[in-house]
Amino acid sequence: MTEEQRGELEELIRSKIEDIAASMPYLQEETKAIAPSVSLGRLTRMEALNDKGVNEHVLEQNRRQLQRLANALKRVDTNEYGHCVRCGGEIPIERLRVVPEAVVCVPCAENKRE
Ligand SMILES: [Zn+2]
Repeated sequence: MTEEQRGELEELIRSKIEDIAASMPYLQEETKAIAPSVSLGRLTRMEALNDKGVNEHVLEQNRRQLQRLANALKRVDTNEYGHCVRCGGEIPIERLRVVPEAVVCVPCAENKRE
């Protein structure tokens, strides 16, 4: 990996973190408990609870994604970054451009055997 590519990926990681962080306050607002006193009609209330479930799922996914990106940001300046944690091989730059937080190469990711 060239220094230029490393810089490019670092930028990408930072912008992904910003995007996700920016969506969090909205999701947190949407996943607050729906007070029983709120005068929603029966159907509306069911829809609201359903949306809450979806948003909680997205929120949880986002939290994990943020954690992975934060870890990638810590590794990006090290020689460890861009190497598969399983086989030690280089993760192709094309994969890192799509998934900059990737820690395993595609063959290892697809190989479910431990
Ligand atoms: Zn591998």
